[in-house]
Amino acid sequence: MKKIINNFLFFLFLINAVYSAQNLLPPSDIHYSEKKTTIIIDPGHGGGDWGINYKGIYEKNITLDISKKIKEKLLKDNPKISVYMTRVDDQFLNINDRVNYANSQKGDIFLSIHCDFIPSESISGYKIYYMLSDNIAEKQKTELINWDFIQMPYINSSRRLASFIDQYMRAALIQENNNITSNDEDDVLPLESRGVTRIKSFILKSINMPAVVVEVGNIYNKNDFSYLTDKNIINQIAYHIKEGIINYLIKTNYQ
Ligand SMILES: [Zn+2]
Repeated sequence: MKKIINNFLFFLFLINAVYSAQNLLPPSDIHYSEKKTTIIIDPGHGGGDWGINYKGIYEKNITLDISKKIKEKLLKDNPKISVYMTRVDDQFLNINDRVNYANSQKGDIFLSIHCDFIPSESISGYKIYYMLSDNIAEKQKTELINWDFIQMPYINSSRRLASFIDQYMRAALIQENNNITSNDEDDVLPLESRGVTRIKSFILKSINMPAVVVEVGNIYNKNDFSYLTDKNIINQIAYHIKEGIINYLIKTNYQ
C-alpha cells in the first residue's frame, strides 16, 4: 500500500514538474513549438541602384535601416526565429539575386521593403502589396517549373501576412520600451495606412514562400519625408512590422 501511495505522490510530483516547466517557457516558445521559423528581409535597391533620390535622401538607405531594425527586433526574445537579409550593406543586387537567395534559404516569410515616390502632397502613408495572379496562371499549372508562377500556392498566406502587418502598423501598441520609460502612452505610428493591395510584381511572383512588399511611405509627401528621415520613427515602423509578423506566425501556426 505504501508503495502505491509513494508511486501516486511521485506521479503528482511529475505532473506538477511538467506543468511548471510549461509555465516557465517564454511565450514565443509556446506558440511555434519545434520548428525554427526563417524570415527573409529584402531591403530594396542598393549600390548603384539608389531607388528614389529626393532632397539628398536615398531610398536604398531607408530600406536598409528599416530592414536591419526589423531583423534586430525579430531576433530579440524569439530564439526560434532566424532572419536572413538579401543584403546587409550598400550592395547592388538584381531581382534574380534576391529571388535566388530568398528561395535557397527555404524561408517561411519574405518581406521586401521599399518607399513610394508619388508626386502628390495628398498621398501619404504606407501600403502593403502581395502578388496579383491572373487567369493565365491556371493554364500554366501543368508545367513542371515556371518561375513566373512560383508564388501561386502561397497567395492566400501572403494576403494574410499583408493583413497582419497592416493591422499591426495601424494598431496602438504597448510601447516597446515601456519598462524603461515611465511614459505608458500607447505607441501609434504617425504614418497613415493606404491598405493592402495586389500587384503584378517581378520579385513576388518567383518567391516560394508567403511574400509581401511594404512601401513604407511616400517620400514626396512632406510628412512622410520627415517620418522616413527620423531615426525614432524608423525604429517605430520596424517595431510595428515586427509585431505584425510575430502575430501572423502565432495565429497561423496555432490554428
Ligand atoms: Zn523601391
